[in-house]
Amino acid sequence: MRSKILASAPAAVAVLVLAMVFLAVPTTRVENANAYFQPTNIRSSGLAGTKTLALTFDDGPSAFTAELLDILAENNIKATFFVLGTRARHHDVLIARMVREGHVVANHSYNHAQLGRRYAASPELLIEQIGRTDALISAHAGNGQGYYFRAPYGVWRRVHAEVLNADPVLKKYVGPVYWDIGGETSFDDEGEVRASADWDCWSRDWAPDMCGKGYMREIARKRGGIVLMHDIRERTLHMIKAMLPVLVAEGYRFVTLDEVRSLDQFRTPSGEDVPVADAGTPSSNVLMAR
Ligand SMILES: [Zn+2]
Repeated sequence: MRSKILASAPAAVAVLVLAMVFLAVPTTRVENANAYFQPTNIRSSGLAGTKTLALTFDDGPSAFTAELLDILAENNIKATFFVLGTRARHHDVLIARMVREGHVVANHSYNHAQLGRRYAASPELLIEQIGRTDALISAHAGNGQGYYFRAPYGVWRRVHAEVLNADPVLKKYVGPVYWDIGGETSFDDEGEVRASADWDCWSRDWAPDMCGKGYMREIARKRGGIVLMHDIRERTLHMIKAMLPVLVAEGYRFVTLDEVRSLDQFRTPSGEDVPVADAGTPSSNVLMAR
């Protein structure tokens, strides 16, 4: 078998090169490339310094999401919505609208469960958490959008990735996708807000302007990244409505997770076991020939 593989090496290289052109996969070698779910949160978006922002809205949809979609449309901005199954099942019209308007609908579990030890001990519960929401999202897919998962509270376990990547339906997901901006509230030495997290702002009873200042300062420092917000409180709407025209005027570009190139390394074509690897290395030839 080994000699046969070596004999067909030039053909295998040609196939691999063609595959790489068509799939536009990165040329860097990636471990565990067939695993859509990763063993830890994916923290490196690669957007810092690029003046590119990927807005993500978690925990919805809610009564405020329609107005948020209006605001995004007014600013010609596409975003990613990490929806909960418990909410998505009551907001079919909103999910359809998100897809129609070019936003990416992503999976944030069924009921915002903390996916810790209990779910490691009961894989069927884990599959249910992600599978029930997947069914709601997939019903609206068909526009070729990618599938993304974000873990509630960022809680994740290595074994979860193994369980989900063995699932024929759910292994299509890239995740868990973390964030760069909006993770926590902090202050500088003068006591000025340095960074904000919207849920924390509202629990402190801050005005939208105050919270938005923290987001804007963190964005200005990092000059790009995946931004975490939640479309379940009216104050977030007011905040984002004020922020977006300023960011657009400053030259920021807005993308969905489908356009974040660093996530490409975790994708492979559905139904195929084509690994991502660099062209011409013996290991990738063997894998291609299999
Ligand atoms: Zn959440």
